[in-house]
Amino acid sequence: MYWNERYECMPEEELRELQLERLQATVKRAFFNVPFYRKAFQAIGIEPGDIKSLDDLQKLPFTTKQDLRDNYPFGMFAVPMSEVVRIHSSSGTTGKPTVVGYTRHDIDVWAELMARALVCGGTTRHDIIQNAYGYGLFTGGLGIHYGAERLGASVIPISGGNTKRQIMIMKDYGSTVLTCTPSYALHLAEVMAEMGVSPGELKLRCGIFGAEPWSENMRQEIEKRLGISAVDIYGLSEVIGPGVGIECQEKNGLHVFGDHFLVEVIDPVTEKSVPPGQLGELVITSLTKEALPVIRYRTRDITSLLLGTCSCGRTYVRVARFTGRTDDMLIIRGVNVFPSQVESVLLEMGGTEPHYLLIVDRQGALDTLEVKVEVSDSLFSDKVRGLEELEKRLVNELESTLGISVKVTLVEPKTIERSEGKAVRVIDKRKI
Ligand SMILES: [Zn+2]
Repeated sequence: MYWNERYECMPEEELRELQLERLQATVKRAFFNVPFYRKAFQAIGIEPGDIKSLDDLQKLPFTTKQDLRDNYPFGMFAVPMSEVVRIHSSSGTTGKPTVVGYTRHDIDVWAELMARALVCGGTTRHDIIQNAYGYGLFTGGLGIHYGAERLGASVIPISGGNTKRQIMIMKDYGSTVLTCTPSYALHLAEVMAEMGVSPGELKLRCGIFGAEPWSENMRQEIEKRLGISAVDIYGLSEVIGPGVGIECQEKNGLHVFGDHFLVEVIDPVTEKSVPPGQLGELVITSLTKEALPVIRYRTRDITSLLLGTCSCGRTYVRVARFTGRTDDMLIIRGVNVFPSQVESVLLEMGGTEPHYLLIVDRQGALDTLEVKVEVSDSLFSDKVRGLEELEKRLVNELESTLGISVKVTLVEPKTIERSEGKAVRVIDKRKI
């Protein structure tokens, strides 16, 4: 049930002591080895000795993705390159990518955290893990890979893409666990159906999906179509990669590995902490990383802190499943809209496939939102009247959920482009 019970179930008081000790060491490491941090601390008159309790975390300055870009490629590293054994980077769509480095100890910690995460998500050493996260500069593939090997499971390093081969291997090798993005899991299910392969012919029983926000309805859809139990895993390359947090079998929020990361949820505008239960931006401080310590890193991911203990016995703090990213948040006529809200409505209403596209445009001074969604096969061959009714229902439901007027365009099944990694859900023509 646990990979490392001592840490995963550590009494809260003891965990807090460990966190403070590690925070102080991290702050020192950053201050004395990274000119960026030294300058940022000095600019607000803070030095490592000022961190006397966990509450003092709030005195420290934030770190952003832009800071990593400004110090491209290795300027944020706290160790000489001779100690860096691995380099990953994120695929920035604009500007320079962010580059992250790992010492041998960092890689060791990452493998430990991923082993914990896999066990927490329901995997054992007897599983055959089909790892369809991309291998390469992206942290997903190798992150899961090292954790699976640490756990002692059999890992298939298949990487993303080549969907038909994925399904053949899944069937022939008897893969029991699938790891990939949720949108790719759904695509796999669809191609499987086209190939006439039913979930009953597979040994697949569990899926660990992440690297993009996905809704509770999307989970149910994937579980139904693949005949598995699906959990959400969270991580980002700037902090370590996958393995920052994961859901347990309760599927009631993600446990964050608190002996290695401190989390806060803040209002992205005022930058002040928000109370548990309230949505805000997740901020993470690494507690053990050597090559790239991050202090109060602004993840741009939207979540909330959950109160109360979890029946699985882990004492770590939990965060809610992610609503989206501050980057994904669209402001349409002054209203905040997340693609995940649209996804939730579509899946709840039925009659459509979970493949959709939000097109935001501006006509004159007015923003417009069009939701393109695929109609399910059975309905598409139906009478025009059925489609008109579906469209009307979707417009009503979306408008009442989002609070703005929406145009719904129903399109033929399989006409919206599929992704093998992170799905593209929004086209904002206002920026072009
Ligand atoms: Zn739990």
